[in-house]
Amino acid sequence: MRTKIWLSPPHMSGKEQKYVDEAFDSNWVAPLGPMVDAFEEELSTYLNIPHVAALSSGTAAIHLALIMLGVKPGDEVIASSFTFSATVNPIVYLGAVPILIDSEVRTWNMDPVLLEEAIADRIKKGKKPKAIIVVDLYGMPAQLDKIHAIAEKYEIPVIEDAAEALGSRFSEKFCGTFGRMGILSFNGNKIITTSGGGALVSFDAEKISTARFLATQARDEFPHYEHTHIGYNYRMSNIIAAIGRGQLEVIEDRVSRRREINRKYRELLKDREEICFQTEPSERYLSNFWLTCILIESKRTGFDRERIRIKLQLENIDSRPLWKPMHLQPVFKSYPAYVNGTSEKLFKTGLCLPSGSSLQASELELIAGMIR
Ligand SMILES: *Cc1c(COP(=O)(O)O)cnc(C)c1O
Repeated sequence: MRTKIWLSPPHMSGKEQKYVDEAFDSNWVAPLGPMVDAFEEELSTYLNIPHVAALSSGTAAIHLALIMLGVKPGDEVIASSFTFSATVNPIVYLGAVPILIDSEVRTWNMDPVLLEEAIADRIKKGKKPKAIIVVDLYGMPAQLDKIHAIAEKYEIPVIEDAAEALGSRFSEKFCGTFGRMGILSFNGNKIITTSGGGALVSFDAEKISTARFLATQARDEFPHYEHTHIGYNYRMSNIIAAIGRGQLEVIEDRVSRRREINRKYRELLKDREEICFQTEPSERYLSNFWLTCILIESKRTGFDRERIRIKLQLENIDSRPLWKPMHLQPVFKSYPAYVNGTSEKLFKTGLCLPSGSSLQASELELIAGMIR
């Protein structure tokens, strides 16, 4: 059988090995080191944001961001419901309460109308949310202008979860750089990967130095080990950062290739009226199209998402339903949620197509042909 076509496999540039060898030659086979410093600096230059801490994962970055915003047990934290569970889990690590917000239909991200309703309602019930985690899902920027205007009005800090949106822009500014803090992920399936890793980014120097402190076991400055805070082991290793440097050199190629794949799918499926795509609402939005996502209008065809997914699977082609919203997850369903039905419908009818930057033109045509 043909080799499996994955959803979003790692795609090396060829430079990674050279940096890894350099790290080995210098014997910096350790957490932290010169590769981590260089990777942080290169990320900072690329994103045009002054402060970056490379960490062990995107989840760790969210956890630290919440800690630094002072989130304590019983506090409420607002988050997009239509996302991967890693957005919401760190809220629960801290004993805080996730308040889940449904999506709007334009970008599929957090609905600003519901956000404002939720904030007003939580305040009325006696608790002002401590933070808002807004996600740029599948690479598509959320309505960041509106979300931030609301957050500013109520003076609630925003954490931007740009784990899927490295290289995406809103009004020409990079995703991840909109909130008080932004988070990135370099997990194996993301647009660039270090096998596993993440970063916290900010315009606030103090936030990033505190994050570094907490992520390195919170060691106070003494010759011996002295601790006044609970610490974490969340820093990135020097070897992992070496991979990241090789990957970051080609990020712009990776973004253009994923955008090209998205364009190609649209072209090949454009006469199928029952299929629609996650689409940039205007020129202000530039998605990295980490994954190309389609919705299948089954009423018209009698042909649902699952039939397509299973057919592709039989052909050794990986595709996946869209994220199941957090407010429908057994583990989160008892938390307060402000819903309008949008993400539930997306989950029921949506499918992520193979979108890796190493996908061949012939593979893409094969997949589109099968869907047709
Ligand atoms: C991948 C992902 C994360 C978590 O990143 P890890 O590096 O895997 O911990 C968080 N949020 C979203 C939306 C993600 O897709």
